[in-house]
Amino acid sequence: MGEREILLATPRSFCAGVERAIEIVERALDRFGPPVYVRRQIVHNRHVVAGLERRGAVFVEEADEVPEGSVLVLAAHGVAPVVRQQAADRGLRVVDATCPLVAKVHQEVRRFAAGDRAVLLIGHHDHEEVVGTHGEAPENVIVVADPDEAERVEVPDPTRVSYVMQTTLAVDEAAETAAVLRRRFPLLSAPHRDDICYATTNRQRAVRDIARDSDLVLVLGSQNSSNSQRLAEVAEAAGATAHLVDDATAVELSWLAGSRRVGITAGASAPPALVDELVQSLAGLGPVSVHERGDLVEDVEFTLPKEVSR
Ligand code: SF4
Repeated sequence: MGEREILLATPRSFCAGVERAIEIVERALDRFGPPVYVRRQIVHNRHVVAGLERRGAVFVEEADEVPEGSVLVLAAHGVAPVVRQQAADRGLRVVDATCPLVAKVHQEVRRFAAGDRAVLLIGHHDHEEVVGTHGEAPENVIVVADPDEAERVEVPDPTRVSYVMQTTLAVDEAAETAAVLRRRFPLLSAPHRDDICYATTNRQRAVRDIARDSDLVLVLGSQNSSNSQRLAEVAEAAGATAHLVDDATAVELSWLAGSRRVGITAGASAPPALVDELVQSLAGLGPVSVHERGDLVEDVEFTLPKEVSR
């Protein structure tokens, strides 16, 4: 086989919410000194977590594992109010790294629930973001995972029903689920703007574009990263074989056999350096030509919480 072509999807890798969350932990370590406790993975990527652990971050499952009076960072996926209460009860100094776009969905849930409406949350049962959003109004929120569940879901009053979405869903499938809900509940009210975030939407569009021209698509990201999993699914749906891998070492040589055009992307929680390493590792197997696809520049920036901003 001659030269192998590598197609790099643009945009890929870190989004503004992930960059902000990592910076919050780094600044908290600088300001307060280690250990800084972090509830759950700050973002769903094991390389990011390992890097912060090396600097003195300690990852815990729940606030009650954190010594009283310590600093606790809440992860980017957001938490239910009950978690904030637990942290306050222990006298923890909380720094909130919830992505502002997730916080916006929490706000919508509170607004709809205050109007005594049922809130259908389109998302994956048990995903951390969904658990947190559900916790804003557990009496009102019902999680709807897919079009099938949308066909079956029942609400107390079909004239008082709204929907919101997890931020990292597959755009097409979520639209299908919302369409079923709209058909079943004609008075359904929607958020002001779609909840699937810009980073999810842009990365799915970009991977679809390279997948059409690739034999194989490699998606860098951890298995528990929802947006990374969706990228692999979108690539498969566009006709390529796709694998989600944590880094270059997880790529199996048998996948590359006969793959002349290899597409590469990375989930919003996967560090850009992993892409460079993967390209280098493919170049080590034989001649490659590398092509950037797409020119969309993301300029979203979020401010930092006051505890670490000055
Ligand atoms: S993927 Fe979207 S919602 Fe999640 S952290 Fe990034 S910008 Fe925020």
